Amino acid sequence: MTDKSGPAPSPAARRGRFAPTPSGLLHIGNAFAALLAWLQIRRAGGTFVLRIEDIDKPRSRPEYAEQILDDLRWLGIDWDEGPDIGGPYGPYEQSAREERYRAALARLERDRWLYPCYCSRAELMAIASAPHGLAAEGPAYPGICRGLTAEERQARSLAKTPSLRFAMPEHEVTYVDGIAGPQRFPAGAGGDFVVQRADGIIGYQLAVVVDDADMGITDVLRGWDLLDSTPRQLLLLKALGLPAPRYAHVPLLYGPDGRRLSKRHGSVTLRGIRQTLRSPERLIGQLAHLAGLLERPEPLKARELTPCFELSRIPQKQVIVSENMLRLLSVP
Ligand code: GLU
Repeated sequence: MTDKSGPAPSPAARRGRFAPTPSGLLHIGNAFAALLAWLQIRRAGGTFVLRIEDIDKPRSRPEYAEQILDDLRWLGIDWDEGPDIGGPYGPYEQSAREERYRAALARLERDRWLYPCYCSRAELMAIASAPHGLAAEGPAYPGICRGLTAEERQARSLAKTPSLRFAMPEHEVTYVDGIAGPQRFPAGAGGDFVVQRADGIIGYQLAVVVDDADMGITDVLRGWDLLDSTPRQLLLLKALGLPAPRYAHVPLLYGPDGRRLSKRHGSVTLRGIRQTLRSPERLIGQLAHLAGLLERPEPLKARELTPCFELSRIPQKQVIVSENMLRLLSVP
């Protein structure tokens, strides 16, 4: 399948979003993706949407959502529609949008895209549908329950509530990423993924595509760890007869030791960084420099960067954060 997204939508019609999961504090890598997604839309004169992805209620906390909004405001990132201000496509919290996901599930079931899976959670924990890439998910689901007969399903349903999986079609998926370039995923890449868990919680992949389509999102700019989710999302959109946005995946941040930026490198949450830096300009300058938008990391306000934004300047894959920058963020 090739993504046949047409020419770029007119500037006024561009709609982008930042869609954090409130299961923890905003990390500098999330702030990097949020800043770039926001700059892309502000540069285009479009509409920026903030959506809280709290579909997994047990893992989400309202206080994290509050803190994320506050951190974004501190950075100078604003939004035209969101949970605090509403908008024409609300609600902007996934926990309040369940009916829409159920309608999409019903349509997928009707069109025979789904099958029940009885594999136990313990067996499959590593391969559950998670939003952070195949590497984090472990091996692809081997399709154990795909070929069960109606009788076998009935018998197993007596003992166990199944999850629902999307049956990956037998063709490859290709699309052109705005940063990563042409992408090709072999048929079935990643395996059949969960769209509804056995506990009834809707899977990330389904919720995100329903929301992006419902909210008229034309441009998805997000972290590289979600690149592997894109073929699944394109397939779901196609199965649901929904239009696909254009995708661009920004690089992840790594420490000077070549490891993914984390606590071991010092203050990497916005809450921590805010205790060190009194205002956001130096952080913004550093992030813009990492994104290839500024030659030198000079302190700037987020909105001053709008004219510098070019998707083509953003480097591919991974970006190494210098010792200097880490020192700046960690030392009072
Ligand atoms: N909610 C996801 C996360 O915080 C991001 C979803 C997306 O941008 O598609 O990782």
